[in-house]
Amino acid sequence: MSAIVAIVGRPNVGKSTLFNRLIKRREAIVDAVSGVTRDRHYGKSDWNGKEFSLIDTGGYVTGSDDIFEQEIDKQVELAIDEADAIIFVVDVESGITGMDEEVAQLLRQAEKPVFLAVNKVDTALRQADAVEFYSLGLGEYYTISSINGSGTGELLDALVETL
Ligand code: GDP
Ligand code: MG
Repeated sequence: MSAIVAIVGRPNVGKSTLFNRLIKRREAIVDAVSGVTRDRHYGKSDWNGKEFSLIDTGGYVTGSDDIFEQEIDKQVELAIDEADAIIFVVDVESGITGMDEEVAQLLRQAEKPVFLAVNKVDTALRQADAVEFYSLGLGEYYTISSINGSGTGELLDALVETL
């Protein structure tokens, strides 16, 4: 069975854009029983000859901010349980939010490799703005643009090393 990589983060940071960029083909959703499993998209990808399954979380989540927060926590907990590696996406345009800090806290306790992807770094000018994300306590981060693909190769190089 191929390794599982989960993409987590709060809404609108660019998880689905990254997912769509990275996947080669979609997979049917099996066991769509709970709301948590229904709110996920699956795809297959490979990099440097390593194949892995990719999960995009939070796909269909709607509702109040309170529901968002609970759903995101559930998605993160599920990802920690089931994934071999986690990509935590944050947004350089908005900077750190309370919800990012909450997710980071859950991920710091996970005994799984976590890759912090600072998204929407579309130009070099944005690069310096990413430094604030060190304060999430997850160590090194990868600056990426899911829209134009920059930085995603470096992220994947590091990621597949751990699979
Ligand atoms: P999700 O809710 O985390 O899945 O986020 P989406 O993938 O749906 O993206 C939310 C918004 O951010 C959309 O308008 C995207 O076009 C935009 N977006 C995603 N990635 C990038 C990026 O790398 N750069 C910029 N400028 N916008 C992005
Ligand atoms: Mg999405």
